[in-house]
Amino acid sequence: MPIGQEDTESPCIDLGNRIISCKKCPRLVLYRQSVSISAKRYPGQEFWRKPVPGYGDVKGRLLIVGMAPAASGGNRTGRVFTGDKSAQFLVSALFKSGFCNQPTSEARDDGLRYLDAYVTAAVKCVPPDNKPTLAELDNCLPYLKEEISCMPNLKAILVLGRFAFESIVRIFCSMGYNVSRSSFQNRSFLDVGNVRIFMSFHPSPRNVNTGKLSEDSFMQTLLGIREYLKKTQ
Ligand code: SF4
Repeated sequence: MPIGQEDTESPCIDLGNRIISCKKCPRLVLYRQSVSISAKRYPGQEFWRKPVPGYGDVKGRLLIVGMAPAASGGNRTGRVFTGDKSAQFLVSALFKSGFCNQPTSEARDDGLRYLDAYVTAAVKCVPPDNKPTLAELDNCLPYLKEEISCMPNLKAILVLGRFAFESIVRIFCSMGYNVSRSSFQNRSFLDVGNVRIFMSFHPSPRNVNTGKLSEDSFMQTLLGIREYLKKTQ
């Protein structure tokens, strides 16, 4: 299975399979298989319960990074940012800003295609309490690094939340760049080499329901990315 929807000729074609079969983190292997979701909400559905690789256009210029799959989202549906409230918020905004072909992300076969963008998470397995350990992050970051290396046209990274930001910073630091982890700020950006890192709070139900992240604020971030990509063409 390719990691991206248009990745059929990429040398990274086996990355998705390697991620899906990964068992490096015993705690997460157990949790992704056992985490309970009300089956009544999804009658007859077989849950994914495996690592969730990224999805999208690896030839795109924008990489979007979340923290980890959600129990009712990626761990249920098998596609990143699919089938939960965070996905609703994110994909609706990405559609309005032209980064995908439809405003919803409900299931792997729903026809969603990202345009000039690839979406993934720093940790590929659902963690208990939404908190991966540092050791689990260390285990998983090589996959994110590989995903980045699969994007030859990468110009911008949108990090969704501090965890995603710190994950990207760790990767750039491992590549020899000097980037401070303390510089995360919603609607801010940071240039590292040829890439601009855009920062946003994560579109989790908690952040959205409390007003910490509004649709308007998130749209402003996406429009800023659009402007930047236009200038760097
Ligand atoms: S979190 Fe990443 S490294 Fe750990 S088991 Fe899942 S895919 Fe493997």
